[in-house]
Amino acid sequence: MAKNLKQIIENICARYQNDRTRMMDIVRAVQEQFGGVSPEAIDLIAQSTDAHRVEVESVVSFYAFLSQKPKGKVIIRLCNDVVDQMKGVQAVARAFSEELGIGFGETTPDSWYTLEWAPCIGMCDQAPAALINDVMVTNLTTDKAKEIVRALKLNPNPPILSTRYGLGDGNNANALVQSMVQNNVKKTGEVLLCDVPADAGLRKAIQKTPEEVIAEVEASKLRGRGGAGFPTGLKWKFTRGSKGPEKFILCNADEGEPGTFKDRVLLTERAHLVFEGMTIGGYAIGATTGILYLRGEYAYLRPFLEDILQKRRAANLLGNNILGKDGFHFDIRIQMGAGAYICGEETSLISSCEGLRGDPKNRPPFPPQQGYLRKPTSVNNVETFAAVARILDKGAAWFAAIGSGKSTGTKLLSISGDCKNPGVYEYPFGVQVRTLLQDVGAENTQALLIGGPSGQFIGAESFDKTICYDDLATGGAIVIFNKDRNMIKIAQEYMEFFVEESCGYCTPCRVGNVLIDKCLQKILAGQGEPSDIEYLQNLGNTVKKGSRCGLGQTSPNPALTTIKNFRAVYDAVLKPAQDGMQPTFDLKAAVSDAEALAGRHSVIH
Ligand code: SF4
Repeated sequence: MAKNLKQIIENICARYQNDRTRMMDIVRAVQEQFGGVSPEAIDLIAQSTDAHRVEVESVVSFYAFLSQKPKGKVIIRLCNDVVDQMKGVQAVARAFSEELGIGFGETTPDSWYTLEWAPCIGMCDQAPAALINDVMVTNLTTDKAKEIVRALKLNPNPPILSTRYGLGDGNNANALVQSMVQNNVKKTGEVLLCDVPADAGLRKAIQKTPEEVIAEVEASKLRGRGGAGFPTGLKWKFTRGSKGPEKFILCNADEGEPGTFKDRVLLTERAHLVFEGMTIGGYAIGATTGILYLRGEYAYLRPFLEDILQKRRAANLLGNNILGKDGFHFDIRIQMGAGAYICGEETSLISSCEGLRGDPKNRPPFPPQQGYLRKPTSVNNVETFAAVARILDKGAAWFAAIGSGKSTGTKLLSISGDCKNPGVYEYPFGVQVRTLLQDVGAENTQALLIGGPSGQFIGAESFDKTICYDDLATGGAIVIFNKDRNMIKIAQEYMEFFVEESCGYCTPCRVGNVLIDKCLQKILAGQGEPSDIEYLQNLGNTVKKGSRCGLGQTSPNPALTTIKNFRAVYDAVLKPAQDGMQPTFDLKAAVSDAEALAGRHSVIH
């Protein structure tokens, strides 16, 4: 067996030229083959790639989809995002647990099934949802969960589930996707979710000089669609202007912000446009390699995307002398992620592409100066690349005329939560919140989360505001909460998410988010004091100021923006200390787990 293991691992490493920067691919392949990356496998990978075993181990321990301990052959990862909670995931969880006879984090004694929680898997529009190996199962109910387990026990081959429940629309039904996922495109616009001529933008781009392409993108005033909103043309100008013959284009397809799923739809229905935009980016900055970093949860799209890349190579839309343009060589590879929210941050994404833990890097130098493999790199969002292709086809003036003046073009919004029509909507920038609430069939709305939990909660006083960079900026996630929802509970659940996803590098983020979460739990338990508000505000601002990357710089927002915009909800439950003595520690709750384990009853009242 040991010899077999050695041979298999050497073969896997050889498939990636024993290149340690391809560590993500290597450990993913080993995990797939053996159900885990054992200490013995780690040693063998380290030998084959000339890496230290600690480097390999640190990668395996960092990503949620990797583990040293073997997992079951079938891994059920049930999404426990806030929207899934709202849609009844707890009952679905009990059904899975009862039917499998195991709890969460456990594997059945026959080593067949592992049951786990997963943070957002990009399916808030069809929640509750789960990932079973690489197969998405959506719109779960307790009956469906039980039925799925029974079907898998008869035939433990997750892909059978897709056809059993019917395939989704559009390319979800493609032979290489075969998924029950629905696109849920509810509103098309004039830039992305409309008919687009094949590669018209690329053909026009190569008639221009790279500098002229960048000038066109700058004139369009296109800003990054991932959330940060940095001007795309300027980023490309910096990258092109950086010294060094080798440059890279990276596409951030790691959308992990809870509530976001618009890139899933673009990758399913506009993959050619995305790759076209990446190719234009390669031409503009002078790169020969592009990498699409695809979140591990979207592995079900990989064969389909690889096939499109192959077709583009065959059509000379990738490769050497693209479309006959002498000296224009560019190709794209797909790098799979493995379940780490932080990798949506551009420098973490770069670390992951380099085969490392997804740790953010210190800035400066910024990626356009020194990014992937310390070479000038432009990281752009999926939607940004798709927009670039359209700009080069239709012209900067056409694009700049759409939107709200300063925020040009359209924006894809992923809308979910308490509404009748969750899905993807393409609006020109400048759409009023009130309009989209009407369009999605939201009634009795108390709050919207704009930009995911790293964004902001707004209330009715802001419903006349507009979606654009100068008013309500968003990378695309919008979650709606009706008046029955407890906003403190919602904020606390999002803080739990950040506690889980912090990489732990800096103390304010690692510790501060835990303290914010605990304070919100205390308030929810009815033990909050008015002074907790100031405590949360001070702590939140300290975390934001003292954190190294975007995660920590925004993670306190669920607490801070609910305090700012839903203060009355907090005031209604905060009690002034009686005689200066407000119990801040619930002894009965604290010993309840130990009581359950010991089978004893407490005498504490
Ligand atoms: Fe890691 Fe948080 Fe620091 Fe970012 S802010 S580097 S996620 S600990």
